Amino acid sequence: MFPPPNADETLYCDALAKLLADAAPVQRVQALDKAKAFDGELHAALAGIGAWGIGVDEAAGGSGGGPVLQVMTLERLGRHATSMAVFGVIQYMATRLLGQYGSDAQRQRYLAALCAGELRASFCMTEAGGGTDILTTMKTRAVKTGTGWRLDGSKYWISGASTADVLIVVARTGEHRSRGITSFLVPADSRGVTARALDTFAVNGYDTCELLLDGVELPADAVLGTVDQGFMQVLGTLNSERLNAAAVAAGIGRGAHRLALDYAKEREAFGRPIGQFQALQHKLVHAGVDLEAAWTLTLNAARLEEAGADVSVESAMAKLAASGAGQRAAQLGMDVLGGAGFDLDLPMQRYYRDIRLYSFAPLTDNMIANFLGERWLGLPRSY
Ligand SMILES: Cc1cc2nc3c(=O)[nH]c(=O)nc-3n(C[C@H](O)[C@H](O)[C@H](O)COP(=O)(O)OP(=O)(O)OC[C@H]3O[C@@H](n4cnc5c(N)ncnc54)[C@H](O)[C@@H]3O)c2cc1C
Repeated sequence: MFPPPNADETLYCDALAKLLADAAPVQRVQALDKAKAFDGELHAALAGIGAWGIGVDEAAGGSGGGPVLQVMTLERLGRHATSMAVFGVIQYMATRLLGQYGSDAQRQRYLAALCAGELRASFCMTEAGGGTDILTTMKTRAVKTGTGWRLDGSKYWISGASTADVLIVVARTGEHRSRGITSFLVPADSRGVTARALDTFAVNGYDTCELLLDGVELPADAVLGTVDQGFMQVLGTLNSERLNAAAVAAGIGRGAHRLALDYAKEREAFGRPIGQFQALQHKLVHAGVDLEAAWTLTLNAARLEEAGADVSVESAMAKLAASGAGQRAAQLGMDVLGGAGFDLDLPMQRYYRDIRLYSFAPLTDNMIANFLGERWLGLPRSY
Protein backbone atom coordinates (compact mmCIF):
# COMPACT_ATOMS: atom_id res chain seq x y z
CA MET A 1 0.00 0.00 0.00
CA PHE A 2 2.88 2.29 0.78
CA PRO A 3 6.62 1.72 0.67
CA PRO A 4 7.92 -0.35 3.59
CA PRO A 5 10.09 1.51 6.10
CA ASN A 6 13.53 2.24 4.70
CA ALA A 7 16.71 1.18 6.49
CA ASP A 8 17.04 4.43 8.48
CA GLU A 9 13.39 4.32 9.57
CA THR A 10 13.71 0.69 10.63
CA LEU A 11 16.90 1.37 12.60
CA TYR A 12 15.34 4.34 14.38
CA CYS A 13 12.02 2.57 15.12
CA ASP A 14 13.86 -0.43 16.57
CA ALA A 15 15.86 1.88 18.85
CA LEU A 16 12.68 3.68 19.89
CA ALA A 17 10.84 0.43 20.63
CA LYS A 18 13.73 -0.80 22.77
CA LEU A 19 13.97 2.50 24.61
CA LEU A 20 10.25 2.48 25.41
CA ALA A 21 10.35 -1.12 26.59
CA ASP A 22 13.27 -0.28 28.92
CA ALA A 23 12.42 3.25 30.05
CA ALA A 24 8.62 3.26 29.99
CA PRO A 25 7.30 -0.05 31.30
CA VAL A 26 3.57 -0.08 32.02
CA GLN A 27 3.97 0.10 35.83
CA ARG A 28 6.08 3.24 35.54
CA VAL A 29 3.72 4.96 33.10
CA GLN A 30 0.74 4.14 35.33
CA ALA A 31 2.50 5.38 38.47
CA LEU A 32 3.43 8.69 36.83
CA ASP A 33 -0.08 9.04 35.44
CA LYS A 34 -1.52 8.58 38.94
CA ALA A 35 1.01 11.06 40.35
CA LYS A 36 0.21 13.49 37.49
CA ALA A 37 3.94 13.82 36.84
CA PHE A 38 5.91 14.47 33.65
CA ASP A 39 8.46 11.76 32.89
CA GLY A 40 11.65 13.81 32.74
CA GLU A 41 13.83 10.71 32.43
CA LEU A 42 11.91 9.41 29.44
CA HIS A 43 12.02 12.87 27.87
CA ALA A 44 15.82 12.92 28.25
CA ALA A 45 16.20 9.38 26.94
CA LEU A 46 14.12 10.26 23.87
CA ALA A 47 16.31 13.30 23.29
CA GLY A 48 19.28 10.92 23.44
CA ILE A 49 18.07 8.98 20.37
CA GLY A 50 17.28 12.20 18.51
CA ALA A 51 13.48 11.96 18.80
CA TRP A 52 12.97 15.65 19.61
CA GLY A 53 15.09 16.85 16.70
CA ILE A 54 13.17 15.05 13.95
CA GLY A 55 12.12 17.50 11.25
CA VAL A 56 14.98 19.90 12.01
CA ASP A 57 18.12 19.90 9.87
CA GLU A 58 21.21 18.46 11.46
CA ALA A 59 23.06 21.73 10.74
CA ALA A 60 20.55 23.51 13.00
CA GLY A 61 20.98 21.01 15.81
CA GLY A 62 18.22 18.61 14.78
CA SER A 63 18.31 14.98 13.72
CA GLY A 64 16.97 15.37 10.16
CA GLY A 65 14.08 13.27 8.95
CA GLY A 66 10.60 14.63 8.45
CA PRO A 67 6.88 13.90 8.72
CA VAL A 68 7.26 10.12 8.35
CA LEU A 69 9.65 9.72 11.28
CA GLN A 70 7.54 12.15 13.32
CA VAL A 71 4.35 10.11 12.88
CA MET A 72 6.23 6.87 13.53
CA THR A 73 7.59 8.31 16.78
CA LEU A 74 4.24 9.65 17.93
CA GLU A 75 2.31 6.47 17.08
CA ARG A 76 4.76 4.46 19.23
CA LEU A 77 4.59 6.96 22.06
CA GLY A 78 0.78 6.92 21.86
CA ARG A 79 0.81 3.17 22.43
CA HIS A 80 3.08 3.39 25.47
CA ALA A 81 3.31 6.80 27.11
CA THR A 82 0.37 8.89 25.97
CA SER A 83 1.30 12.10 27.78
CA MET A 84 4.76 12.04 26.21
CA ALA A 85 3.11 11.61 22.82
CA VAL A 86 1.04 14.74 23.47
CA PHE A 87 4.24 16.52 24.45
CA GLY A 88 5.73 15.36 21.14
CA VAL A 89 2.95 16.98 19.10
CA ILE A 90 3.68 20.33 20.77
CA GLN A 91 7.45 19.85 20.46
CA TYR A 92 7.22 19.22 16.72
CA MET A 93 4.92 22.18 16.21
CA ALA A 94 7.26 24.50 18.12
CA THR A 95 10.39 23.33 16.32
CA ARG A 96 8.62 23.59 12.97
CA LEU A 97 7.50 27.19 13.65
CA LEU A 98 10.96 28.14 14.86
CA GLY A 99 12.74 26.38 12.02
CA GLN A 100 10.46 27.92 9.42
CA TYR A 101 9.99 31.44 10.76
CA GLY A 102 12.69 32.02 13.40
CA SER A 103 15.47 34.54 12.80
CA ASP A 104 19.05 33.26 12.94
CA ALA A 105 19.35 34.59 16.50
CA GLN A 106 16.07 32.95 17.60
CA ARG A 107 17.04 29.63 16.07
CA GLN A 108 20.47 29.77 17.69
CA ARG A 109 18.96 30.57 21.05
CA TYR A 110 16.20 27.97 21.08
CA LEU A 111 16.19 25.42 18.29
CA ALA A 112 19.20 23.20 19.07
CA ALA A 113 18.39 23.29 22.80
CA LEU A 114 14.78 22.21 22.14
CA CYS A 115 15.99 19.37 19.92
CA ALA A 116 18.48 18.29 22.60
CA GLY A 117 15.74 18.23 25.23
CA GLU A 118 17.46 21.00 27.21
CA LEU A 119 14.52 23.38 26.74
CA ARG A 120 10.79 22.88 26.39
CA ALA A 121 8.28 25.05 24.52
CA SER A 122 4.53 25.65 24.67
CA PHE A 123 2.24 26.81 21.92
CA CYS A 124 -0.31 29.28 23.29
CA MET A 125 -3.26 30.11 21.08
CA THR A 126 -6.57 28.97 22.66
CA GLU A 127 -8.42 31.35 24.98
CA ALA A 128 -11.18 30.76 27.49
CA GLY A 129 -13.77 32.24 25.10
CA GLY A 130 -13.35 29.30 22.70
CA GLY A 131 -10.79 27.59 20.51
CA THR A 132 -12.69 26.80 17.33
CA ASP A 133 -13.61 30.38 16.50
CA ILE A 134 -10.32 31.75 17.80
CA LEU A 135 -10.20 34.63 15.32
CA THR A 136 -13.34 36.03 16.95
CA THR A 137 -12.53 35.14 20.55
CA MET A 138 -8.87 36.17 20.74
CA LYS A 139 -8.54 38.99 23.26
CA THR A 140 -4.81 38.73 23.98
CA ARG A 141 -3.25 41.77 22.43
CA ALA A 142 0.27 43.07 21.83
CA VAL A 143 0.87 46.79 21.37
CA LYS A 144 4.03 48.48 20.16
CA THR A 145 6.11 50.38 22.73
CA GLY A 146 9.23 52.51 22.27
CA THR A 147 11.48 49.45 22.65
CA GLY A 148 9.33 46.56 21.47
CA TRP A 149 5.93 45.20 22.48
CA ARG A 150 3.70 44.92 25.53
CA LEU A 151 1.57 41.81 25.82
CA ASP A 152 -1.69 41.60 27.79
CA GLY A 153 -4.31 38.89 28.00
CA SER A 154 -4.70 35.26 28.89
CA LYS A 155 -4.68 31.81 27.33
CA TYR A 156 -6.48 28.65 28.40
CA TRP A 157 -5.93 24.91 27.93
CA ILE A 158 -2.26 25.37 27.12
CA SER A 159 -0.15 22.20 27.18
CA GLY A 160 3.04 22.39 29.17
CA ALA A 161 2.92 26.12 29.95
CA SER A 162 3.82 25.77 33.63
CA THR A 163 6.89 23.68 32.84
CA ALA A 164 8.03 25.26 29.55
CA ASP A 165 11.07 27.49 29.14
CA VAL A 166 9.74 29.40 26.18
CA LEU A 167 6.19 30.19 25.11
CA ILE A 168 5.05 30.82 21.56
CA VAL A 169 2.20 33.26 22.20
CA VAL A 170 -0.23 34.20 19.44
CA ALA A 171 -1.71 37.68 19.99
CA ARG A 172 -3.78 40.25 18.18
CA THR A 173 -1.71 43.12 16.77
CA GLY A 174 -4.07 44.55 14.17
CA GLU A 175 -7.73 44.81 13.30
CA HIS A 176 -7.75 42.53 10.25
CA ARG A 177 -9.43 39.29 11.31
CA SER A 178 -6.75 36.86 10.17
CA ARG A 179 -3.90 39.15 9.09
CA GLY A 180 -3.79 41.12 12.33
CA ILE A 181 -2.23 38.45 14.50
CA THR A 182 1.42 37.99 15.45
CA SER A 183 3.42 35.21 17.13
CA PHE A 184 5.86 36.08 19.90
CA LEU A 185 8.62 34.14 21.59
CA VAL A 186 8.19 34.78 25.29
CA PRO A 187 10.70 33.44 27.85
CA ALA A 188 8.53 31.73 30.48
CA ASP A 189 10.27 33.57 33.30
CA SER A 190 9.43 37.01 31.88
CA ARG A 191 7.88 39.45 34.35
CA GLY A 192 4.09 39.42 34.07
CA VAL A 193 3.86 35.78 32.92
CA THR A 194 2.00 33.41 35.24
CA ALA A 195 1.10 29.84 34.35
CA ARG A 196 -1.26 27.78 36.49
CA ALA A 197 -1.75 24.06 35.93
CA LEU A 198 -5.44 23.20 35.58
CA ASP A 199 -7.04 20.19 37.20
CA THR A 200 -7.94 17.96 34.24
CA PHE A 201 -9.11 14.37 33.91
CA ALA A 202 -6.71 13.12 31.26
CA VAL A 203 -3.19 13.44 29.81
CA ASN A 204 -2.08 13.49 33.44
CA GLY A 205 1.64 13.31 32.69
CA TYR A 206 1.74 16.68 30.96
CA ASP A 207 0.44 19.89 32.51
CA THR A 208 -2.50 21.73 30.91
CA CYS A 209 -2.57 25.36 31.94
CA GLU A 210 -4.08 28.76 32.18
CA LEU A 211 -1.59 31.43 31.18
CA LEU A 212 -1.85 35.02 32.36
CA LEU A 213 0.01 37.74 30.48
CA ASP A 214 0.00 40.95 32.47
CA GLY A 215 1.91 43.80 30.83
CA VAL A 216 4.69 41.53 29.58
CA GLU A 217 7.42 43.73 28.06
CA LEU A 218 9.10 42.15 25.05
CA PRO A 219 11.96 43.35 22.85
CA ALA A 220 11.25 44.01 19.17
CA ASP A 221 13.07 40.82 18.21
CA ALA A 222 10.58 38.69 20.18
CA VAL A 223 8.38 38.60 17.08
CA LEU A 224 8.46 35.14 15.51
CA GLY A 225 8.21 35.56 11.75
CA THR A 226 6.31 38.53 10.37
CA VAL A 227 4.15 41.04 12.22
CA ASP A 228 0.42 40.45 11.53
CA GLN A 229 1.16 37.13 9.78
CA GLY A 230 1.18 34.90 12.87
CA PHE A 231 -2.11 33.20 12.12
CA MET A 232 -1.11 32.52 8.53
CA GLN A 233 2.15 31.03 9.82
CA VAL A 234 0.20 28.74 12.14
CA LEU A 235 -2.10 27.73 9.28
CA GLY A 236 1.04 26.65 7.43
CA THR A 237 1.79 24.08 10.16
CA LEU A 238 -1.75 22.71 10.47
CA ASN A 239 -1.30 19.74 8.17
CA SER A 240 1.66 18.48 10.17
CA GLU A 241 -0.14 19.02 13.43
CA ARG A 242 -3.18 17.11 12.21
CA LEU A 243 -1.00 14.27 10.99
CA ASN A 244 0.86 14.20 14.28
CA ALA A 245 -2.41 14.21 16.24
CA ALA A 246 -3.64 11.37 14.00
CA ALA A 247 -0.50 9.38 14.77
CA VAL A 248 -0.99 9.73 18.54
CA ALA A 249 -4.66 8.78 18.24
CA ALA A 250 -3.81 5.72 16.12
CA GLY A 251 -1.13 4.77 18.67
CA ILE A 252 -3.50 5.11 21.63
CA GLY A 253 -6.09 3.02 19.77
CA ARG A 254 -3.51 0.37 18.93
CA GLY A 255 -2.35 0.28 22.56
CA ALA A 256 -5.94 -0.23 23.72
CA HIS A 257 -6.59 -2.83 21.03
CA ARG A 258 -3.47 -4.83 21.90
CA LEU A 259 -4.36 -4.85 25.60
CA ALA A 260 -7.95 -5.89 24.85
CA LEU A 261 -6.73 -8.67 22.57
CA ASP A 262 -4.27 -10.05 25.13
CA TYR A 263 -6.99 -9.96 27.75
CA ALA A 264 -9.50 -11.67 25.46
CA LYS A 265 -7.05 -14.53 24.92
CA GLU A 266 -6.35 -15.01 28.65
CA ARG A 267 -9.60 -14.26 30.45
CA GLU A 268 -12.03 -17.17 30.63
CA ALA A 269 -15.80 -17.41 31.03
CA PHE A 270 -17.99 -20.46 30.57
CA GLY A 271 -14.87 -22.59 30.22
CA ARG A 272 -13.36 -20.78 27.26
CA PRO A 273 -11.39 -17.61 26.52
CA ILE A 274 -13.75 -14.66 26.17
CA GLY A 275 -12.13 -13.97 22.77
CA GLN A 276 -13.89 -17.11 21.52
CA PHE A 277 -17.27 -15.42 21.87
CA GLN A 278 -18.22 -14.01 18.52
CA ALA A 279 -19.76 -10.95 20.18
CA LEU A 280 -16.23 -9.89 21.19
CA GLN A 281 -14.25 -11.46 18.37
CA HIS A 282 -16.03 -9.58 15.60
CA LYS A 283 -15.76 -6.29 17.46
CA LEU A 284 -12.02 -6.83 17.94
CA VAL A 285 -11.64 -7.56 14.23
CA HIS A 286 -13.60 -4.45 13.20
CA ALA A 287 -11.69 -2.24 15.62
CA GLY A 288 -8.37 -3.61 14.35
CA VAL A 289 -9.33 -2.98 10.72
CA ASP A 290 -10.45 0.56 11.59
CA LEU A 291 -7.12 1.26 13.24
CA GLU A 292 -5.07 -0.17 10.37
CA ALA A 293 -7.06 1.96 7.91
CA ALA A 294 -6.50 5.08 10.00
CA TRP A 295 -2.79 4.38 10.35
CA THR A 296 -2.50 3.70 6.61
CA LEU A 297 -4.12 7.06 5.85
CA THR A 298 -1.77 8.75 8.33
CA LEU A 299 1.43 7.18 7.07
CA ASN A 300 0.41 7.66 3.46
CA ALA A 301 -0.27 11.36 4.04
CA ALA A 302 3.04 11.73 5.88
CA ARG A 303 4.89 10.17 2.94
CA LEU A 304 3.07 12.50 0.54
CA GLU A 305 3.93 15.50 2.69
CA GLU A 306 7.56 14.41 2.85
CA ALA A 307 7.52 14.32 -0.96
CA GLY A 308 6.31 17.93 -0.99
CA ALA A 309 2.61 17.41 -1.78
CA ASP A 310 -0.20 19.53 -0.36
CA VAL A 311 -1.87 17.16 2.10
CA SER A 312 -4.55 19.40 3.56
CA VAL A 313 -7.33 16.96 2.62
CA GLU A 314 -5.33 13.81 3.38
CA SER A 315 -4.16 15.06 6.80
CA ALA A 316 -7.73 16.04 7.73
CA MET A 317 -8.98 12.58 6.68
CA ALA A 318 -6.24 10.91 8.70
CA LYS A 319 -7.08 12.95 11.81
CA LEU A 320 -10.80 12.19 11.53
CA ALA A 321 -10.22 8.50 10.89
CA ALA A 322 -7.66 8.06 13.68
CA SER A 323 -9.67 10.02 16.23
CA GLY A 324 -12.75 7.87 15.54
CA ALA A 325 -10.87 4.56 15.37
CA GLY A 326 -8.93 5.38 18.54
CA GLN A 327 -12.06 6.28 20.48
CA ARG A 328 -13.92 3.17 19.32
CA ALA A 329 -10.95 0.93 20.18
CA ALA A 330 -10.66 2.41 23.69
CA GLN A 331 -14.40 2.07 24.23
CA LEU A 332 -14.25 -1.57 23.11
CA GLY A 333 -11.20 -2.12 25.30
CA MET A 334 -13.17 -0.97 28.34
CA ASP A 335 -15.98 -3.38 27.40
CA VAL A 336 -13.61 -6.33 26.93
CA LEU A 337 -11.86 -5.73 30.25
CA GLY A 338 -15.14 -5.52 32.18
CA GLY A 339 -14.40 -4.44 35.77
CA ALA A 340 -10.64 -4.50 35.10
CA GLY A 341 -11.20 -1.46 32.92
CA PHE A 342 -11.51 0.49 36.18
CA ASP A 343 -8.11 -0.66 37.47
CA LEU A 344 -5.78 2.34 37.67
CA ASP A 345 -2.77 0.01 37.48
CA LEU A 346 -3.80 -0.99 33.96
CA PRO A 347 -3.51 1.42 31.03
CA MET A 348 -6.98 0.82 29.55
CA GLN A 349 -8.67 3.60 31.51
CA ARG A 350 -5.76 5.90 30.60
CA TYR A 351 -6.24 5.16 26.89
CA TYR A 352 -9.98 5.69 27.31
CA ARG A 353 -9.45 9.10 28.94
CA ASP A 354 -6.49 10.31 26.89
CA ILE A 355 -7.95 9.53 23.46
CA ARG A 356 -10.63 12.17 24.15
CA LEU A 357 -8.06 14.93 23.54
CA TYR A 358 -7.77 14.17 19.87
CA SER A 359 -11.50 14.38 19.26
CA PHE A 360 -11.17 18.16 19.65
CA ALA A 361 -7.49 19.09 19.41
CA PRO A 362 -5.82 20.69 17.61
CA LEU A 363 -9.14 21.14 15.79
CA THR A 364 -12.45 19.49 16.68
CA ASP A 365 -13.66 16.57 14.59
CA ASN A 366 -16.72 18.66 13.69
CA MET A 367 -14.51 21.35 12.17
CA ILE A 368 -12.40 18.77 10.36
CA ALA A 369 -15.62 17.38 8.89
CA ASN A 370 -16.69 20.93 7.92
CA PHE A 371 -13.37 21.36 6.14
CA LEU A 372 -13.63 18.00 4.34
CA GLY A 373 -17.25 18.69 3.35
CA GLU A 374 -16.10 21.84 1.62
CA ARG A 375 -12.62 21.04 0.33
CA TRP A 376 -12.95 17.33 -0.44
CA LEU A 377 -16.62 16.87 -1.30
CA GLY A 378 -17.18 20.31 -2.82
CA LEU A 379 -20.21 21.07 -0.64
CA PRO A 380 -21.04 24.63 0.41
CA ARG A 381 -19.20 25.89 3.49
CA SER A 382 -21.24 24.93 6.53
CA TYR A 383 -20.09 27.56 9.04
C1 LIG B 1 -5.61 18.82 27.39
C2 LIG B 1 -5.69 19.96 26.41
C3 LIG B 1 -4.53 20.43 25.83
C4 LIG B 1 -4.58 21.53 24.94
N1 LIG B 1 -3.40 22.06 24.47
C5 LIG B 1 -3.44 23.24 23.78
C6 LIG B 1 -2.21 23.93 23.45
O1 LIG B 1 -1.11 23.46 23.78
N2 LIG B 1 -2.31 25.12 22.80
C7 LIG B 1 -3.51 25.66 22.44
O2 LIG B 1 -3.51 26.74 21.86
N3 LIG B 1 -4.69 25.03 22.71
C8 LIG B 1 -4.69 23.83 23.38
N4 LIG B 1 -5.87 23.20 23.72
C9 LIG B 1 -7.14 23.77 23.30
C10 LIG B 1 -7.80 23.01 22.13
O3 LIG B 1 -7.10 23.27 20.93
C11 LIG B 1 -9.27 23.48 22.09
O4 LIG B 1 -9.93 22.84 23.19
C12 LIG B 1 -9.94 23.14 20.77
O5 LIG B 1 -9.45 23.98 19.75
C13 LIG B 1 -11.48 23.31 20.86
O6 LIG B 1 -11.82 24.55 21.40
P1 LIG B 1 -12.88 24.64 22.61
O7 LIG B 1 -12.48 23.64 23.62
O8 LIG B 1 -12.93 26.05 23.04
O9 LIG B 1 -14.24 24.18 22.00
P2 LIG B 1 -15.34 25.16 21.28
O10 LIG B 1 -14.66 25.95 20.22
O11 LIG B 1 -16.09 25.90 22.32
O12 LIG B 1 -16.28 24.06 20.62
C14 LIG B 1 -17.29 23.36 21.36
C15 LIG B 1 -18.06 22.44 20.44
O13 LIG B 1 -18.71 23.21 19.42
C16 LIG B 1 -18.43 22.64 18.15
N5 LIG B 1 -18.42 23.65 17.10
C17 LIG B 1 -17.94 24.92 17.15
N6 LIG B 1 -18.06 25.51 15.96
C18 LIG B 1 -18.63 24.60 15.13
C19 LIG B 1 -19.01 24.60 13.75
N7 LIG B 1 -18.85 25.67 12.98
N8 LIG B 1 -19.56 23.49 13.24
C20 LIG B 1 -19.73 22.39 14.00
N9 LIG B 1 -19.38 22.33 15.30
C21 LIG B 1 -18.85 23.42 15.85
C22 LIG B 1 -17.04 22.03 18.32
O14 LIG B 1 -16.78 21.06 17.32
C23 LIG B 1 -17.18 21.44 19.72
O15 LIG B 1 -17.83 20.20 19.62
C24 LIG B 1 -5.83 22.09 24.59
C25 LIG B 1 -7.00 21.58 25.17
C26 LIG B 1 -6.95 20.56 26.08
C27 LIG B 1 -8.20 20.11 26.76
